[in-house]
Amino acid sequence: MINIPISQYNRNQITPPASTSSHAGIKKLIIMDVDGVLFKGQFILHLARSLGILVYIRTAILCLLFNMNKISIHELITRVYASFEGVTLEHARMVYKNIPLIKHARETIETLRNHGYLVILMSSGVPDLFVKDLATRLSANNGYGVEINTENEQLTGDVSGQLSRSTGKRDLIEEILRETRLAWQNTVVLVDDRNNLDIMYKAGINIGVNAHYTVRQQARYLIDSRDLSEMLDIMDIEDADTYKTLFAGMRKQFTHSWYQEIRRKCLHILIAFVPLFSIFVHNTTLIVLFSLLIVYMISECLRVNGYSLPLLGSITRSSIRKPEERGFAFGPVTLVLGAILSLLLFPAIIANTVIWIVAFADTAATVVGRGIGNHRIPYNMKKSIEGSLAAWLVAFFCGCIYLPLFPAVLAASFSSIIESLPLRSLDNLLMPIGTGIFLLCLGYS
Ligand SMILES: [Mg+2]
Repeated sequence: MINIPISQYNRNQITPPASTSSHAGIKKLIIMDVDGVLFKGQFILHLARSLGILVYIRTAILCLLFNMNKISIHELITRVYASFEGVTLEHARMVYKNIPLIKHARETIETLRNHGYLVILMSSGVPDLFVKDLATRLSANNGYGVEINTENEQLTGDVSGQLSRSTGKRDLIEEILRETRLAWQNTVVLVDDRNNLDIMYKAGINIGVNAHYTVRQQARYLIDSRDLSEMLDIMDIEDADTYKTLFAGMRKQFTHSWYQEIRRKCLHILIAFVPLFSIFVHNTTLIVLFSLLIVYMISECLRVNGYSLPLLGSITRSSIRKPEERGFAFGPVTLVLGAILSLLLFPAIIANTVIWIVAFADTAATVVGRGIGNHRIPYNMKKSIEGSLAAWLVAFFCGCIYLPLFPAVLAASFSSIIESLPLRSLDNLLMPIGTGIFLLCLGYS
């Protein structure tokens, strides 16, 4: 057994990893945050919600102030737990037990331990006794949380302990590192919020799980799949046993960007319905597009802070590319904005033509470019000549629906040139608007 003689925690013992019996056998120390990482949401918010709407709103505001860097973790925890005075320990335990956990938490931790990793749970918001219980439930080596005082099995509202302080996690990890003779370089941290920024910078590997914006920007890896086993891919653990079957399907899903592109483009093509609806209900179509735009932007703001809007959040998560995970994905915004502006600025014939061009030609460029695109465009190495030719052909067919042959050729050429430029998601906006203005200048309406 490895004894961790840590200030207030020296009564606790840490079970060594299953395949090791001494410090020398430990490959790495893995520190997992509890709130937001293993728990869906935060314990204090779950408990506050069970105590009524006013306590919940107050707690939510304090959490928001903490996330905005207006109050420290110590102030947050002290003020929140003060409002929990009189709550029975049994009630708090019931709330703790009912918090949903991230998928495959136990399986992942067991696998990590079998591969010689020391897994420690650490929380600055969850009571120590619950974190220890969670560590047992999930097969972690140990867990540490904040110390809560109780009297007659009721919370007194006082909270204390190393982890209630701003530098608590860093100090505690350093004590564990000293004991296990490991270094920060051998440490992996899984975190979600800004309370963990200092340990993120020091750790050899940091992983943002459902990460808030500041963590999302800094983290080396991100896990947004609500499935902890994605970590095994990051740590490059290929388990030949039972877990291989369990994780095989999922790994395929993580890496198969081709299917992801198809999914993206299926959503992209939905914009082609706009001209069909606008013929019959023009104003309603505009209102629906505006509403979708606002809902999507709210959903994205939540996603980049580790939260998820039901349905739309999971659709976005499964459709965005890796580089888009760290920030706001603007593709759908520019696509919908392009359709709205086309309906507002152009006569129906031009609006319909350019919306269909952006819906189908852009999709054709991606599908053909990814499938058989071997010749790069000199001014944009990310796109291929084959993709651009496909975009031209499809744009030409879209143009032929409303326009005579020659203007259809011009519209197809102009829009496929815009599509080929390195504009990122701006092409969704510039393709319809640019082509529409071009056709207006040619005198077609
Ligand atoms: Mg957290």
